[in-house]
Amino acid sequence: MKIIPAVDFHCDVLWKLLENDRLSFIDNPDLMLDVSLPRLQQADSILQIFAIYVSERSEKTMVPILRSIDLFHQKVLAAPGMRFVRSPEDVRNLRKDGVIGAMLSLEGADGLQGDMAMLRILFELGVRAAGLTWNNANWGADGVMEPRQGGLTAKGREFVAECNRLGILLDASHLSERSFWDVVDASGRPIIASHSNSREICNHPRNLSDDQIRALIAVDGLIGVTFVPQFVREGGRADMNDVLRHVERICGLGGGKQLVFGSDFDGIDTHVAGLSNPGELVNLKETLLKQYNAEQVQDFFAENALRFLTKHLPA
Ligand SMILES: [Zn+2]
Repeated sequence: MKIIPAVDFHCDVLWKLLENDRLSFIDNPDLMLDVSLPRLQQADSILQIFAIYVSERSEKTMVPILRSIDLFHQKVLAAPGMRFVRSPEDVRNLRKDGVIGAMLSLEGADGLQGDMAMLRILFELGVRAAGLTWNNANWGADGVMEPRQGGLTAKGREFVAECNRLGILLDASHLSERSFWDVVDASGRPIIASHSNSREICNHPRNLSDDQIRALIAVDGLIGVTFVPQFVREGGRADMNDVLRHVERICGLGGGKQLVFGSDFDGIDTHVAGLSNPGELVNLKETLLKQYNAEQVQDFFAENALRFLTKHLPA
């Protein structure tokens, strides 16, 4: 099989490092991490996006966010062959230089407490994608598990506008449905859903309706098919063919050029059978190659993502 490089739009390894800073991204000796340098190498990874996620029980300030960025430098970028990605030029250079890119995203803006200066500082520190909420409600929006299912607040709209102005990509995964549509209305720039599947294939609130998927396609956004078993198949006993069904659904809606993967590795404690870490991505590549040609599979794994980021990251 020809080498197919891989881009992954979402992993939570920084959260695991934040919870336990003795873990090693470079060696991963006890295999405590799904995503590590050896496994990214095994995956022919060309770019991994690292989410800054702060758990619900942590303080809602900038401190754990900044600690996560420190760990990103100390543990991830310190690994040989890893390269910080912030601009279209960085993306173009990945292939040329044969390195693995690492980009920062923010999963939940609770710690910013509505202060746009904090958002601008995170941009200066290299954060290039952001979701307003995790599952819960905060100062900016309601997340998908908030019972009242509200949308954006005035501050949330300000956040969208400031992300647009700076060139931070807006991530709609985890938003309530109303917040999703508010972001679609408010944003003048493409939106991504970094780790969400099709709700028609697997009825889970974290997944996207066909209308939401069409909306992301219409704004030239991205849909990141995710490997969270409960989002892949109802009941959670999922295998590679179940992942394929989500790919087929999104392609059927015209999203063949908007489809990427957002594994959620290190954010999950059960896995799709045969897909428990980046080193096993080869299994998914083989499954997809039975249904799609090599060029299409290459689009899903890397080309769609790289084209999008080259076009939409700030220069
Ligand atoms: Zn998530």
